[in-house]
Amino acid sequence: MLQTFYYLSATQIPAMADVHEPEVRSYNMSRIKSTDTKPELLVRKFLFKNGFRYRLHVKNLPGKPDIVLPKYKTVIFVNGCFWHYHKGCRYFVLPKTRTEWWLQKVKDTSLRDKAAEIALQVHGWKVILVWECEIKPTNRDNTLSNLISEIR
Ligand SMILES: [Zn+2]
Repeated sequence: MLQTFYYLSATQIPAMADVHEPEVRSYNMSRIKSTDTKPELLVRKFLFKNGFRYRLHVKNLPGKPDIVLPKYKTVIFVNGCFWHYHKGCRYFVLPKTRTEWWLQKVKDTSLRDKAAEIALQVHGWKVILVWECEIKPTNRDNTLSNLISEIR
């Protein structure tokens, strides 16, 4: 299970490992991961370096998009493969305990994601999803350069 949440820093994991009930732990994790995850920072740095200017975690847009590029009327969600239920992805690994509970949880998240995506599109926003697995060192450069053409 800890492997699934490898993007938490080493100092955060032991503190949470056994002291909380799963729901509490999940709540804590969801708060930790909700902003400034590493893949998101990579995308932001890349965009900034390439001259894009953006707003972050815009609360008054559906789904509170991670990155908003007003000039291009484009939003970017940088999704963790576990939390956002990246089906078929090697990084989507359900915990061995409380498996059904976790599956329901990520399915709910995924449905909310889809609803937000549709609401944004209805209002004329271009929605780009970047998955955590697309920002791994092996495919990062490719993903990021494609991102520029997707935005423009
Ligand atoms: Zn993935």
